[in-house]
Amino acid sequence: MTYDVIIVGGGIAGLSTAVRCTELDLKPIVLEKGEPADYPCNARFSGGIVHVAEKEMRAPEADILAKIDHLTDGVGSGGLAAIMAADAEKALDWLRGNGAKFIKGGAIELMRWVLAPPRPRRPGLDWQGRGPDMLLRNLTAKMEAGGGTLERGVRGTALLQEAGKVVGLRATRGGQDVEFRGRAVVICDGGFQGDPELVRRFISPRPDALFTRGAGTGCGDGLRMAEALGAQLVGTDRFYGHLLGRETFDNEKLWPYPTIDAIARASILVDGAGNRLFDEGRGGIYLANEIAKLDDPLTISVVFDDAVWNGLAADNRYPPCMNPAFVNEGGTVYEADSLEALAAQINVPGEALAMTVAAFNNALEGGALAGLDPIRTTDVVPAHPIKTPPFHAIELCAGITYTMGGLTIDAQSRALDTAGAPIAGLYAAGSATGGIEGGPNAAYLGGLSKAVITGLRAAECIAES
Ligand SMILES: Cc1cc2nc3c(=O)[nH]c(=O)nc-3n(C[C@H](O)[C@H](O)[C@H](O)COP(=O)(O)OP(=O)(O)OC[C@H]3O[C@@H](n4cnc5c(N)ncnc54)[C@H](O)[C@@H]3O)c2cc1C
Repeated sequence: MTYDVIIVGGGIAGLSTAVRCTELDLKPIVLEKGEPADYPCNARFSGGIVHVAEKEMRAPEADILAKIDHLTDGVGSGGLAAIMAADAEKALDWLRGNGAKFIKGGAIELMRWVLAPPRPRRPGLDWQGRGPDMLLRNLTAKMEAGGGTLERGVRGTALLQEAGKVVGLRATRGGQDVEFRGRAVVICDGGFQGDPELVRRFISPRPDALFTRGAGTGCGDGLRMAEALGAQLVGTDRFYGHLLGRETFDNEKLWPYPTIDAIARASILVDGAGNRLFDEGRGGIYLANEIAKLDDPLTISVVFDDAVWNGLAADNRYPPCMNPAFVNEGGTVYEADSLEALAAQINVPGEALAMTVAAFNNALEGGALAGLDPIRTTDVVPAHPIKTPPFHAIELCAGITYTMGGLTIDAQSRALDTAGAPIAGLYAAGSATGGIEGGPNAAYLGGLSKAVITGLRAAECIAES
């Protein structure tokens, strides 16, 4: 079976690549391993907030670059992440031109472009008929109208290479091996968060102790098949994810929302000995990454006071709010009038917790948070003292949504080999790629925008070549 472009994965990266291919007179086929018409993927489950580095898509390029610079400690804006700033507005317009409907989801800039109809602001997974689901349906129809094909139930397994050029893909369909041939292959398989072996190799010694906060369909097939041809990997140690209650493993109402990030970055996280281990001020995505690295990631609790619980935990800028949604859905928020009594509930030594809290409060009041070990930064959000009883705690787990690292690409979405040269005929887009997000701060720049921007660039490069 011969096509111009073979695309592995029918999420937003794959379908955007495919639609753009048809606009450029290329004949694409999208191979999707999911079988049902509404096959699961992260794009379908997503919140539909289309942004770049939490800036709105029409923000001036210089502003977006400055934000990327800030989030990535200066690494991103000088590198590949700059394409996110350069193409943000174009990607938005392209989506709108291809049937995407948007609403303004809230007052903060992040929420300017939310795919409509938006998911309701309530806990639990809720995606059918919501904006991202509708977008994937529209893109599929658009692609098919343009002469492209979507084949479901086909899992790509290996790349075909002849004379140094990728010329196709081997796949399985209904237990049979099949081959697809084309001028180019674009890997859009959504990352490797669904594969415990790869997660253990790159992210955590305990993949079983991370909660899969997504479809779990990205199993690193693309990474493996490209690595077999000498592809270079980058940033594979970081993932986009959030802090969730540990009970999420047994309670499907507690994911993907609400997340515990806002409480965590205002308060402190302690381990089983009552000690702080991380700079909470760097936010929930960073903290989820750091928790994942622990020998036992299921030992961390967040400790906060009643002012936080009835203040920012009830703030509706990031709905659904932890207070009261988390408790209403069966999540446990431990509560006690003294830190010692709270410590007993979460199996932490009381004296140690009281000392950790006192050190934190003293440093906060004395303006000496930078002197704490580990340091506590406050450049993103202020720290709140833990003073107003009753005191509260939630036992945490790290939720992994998608891996931020993966195949190294250039600005045309061409996959590079370990020497930094393009592998002829091989491209990648979306969460299969690395080098745009991640780094020391686990900088999150926007999974949907990254997928569309890298997908459009892949299609345009293939058309030009
Ligand atoms: C709960 C949740 C909320 C989110 N909210 C947001 C948000 O508001 N804003 C934002 O920017 N991002 C958000 N994201 C992230 C965003 O959804 C992803 O970054 C984005 O969907 C990545 O697109 P993708 O096409 O690369 O991967 P996916 O959408 O995951 O698609 C990959 C596809 O490849 C298929 N596949 C995998 N392996 C193979 C194979 N070997 N052969 C064939 N097919 C294969 C999979 O089945 C899947 O359909 C959210 C994600 C989740 C889970």
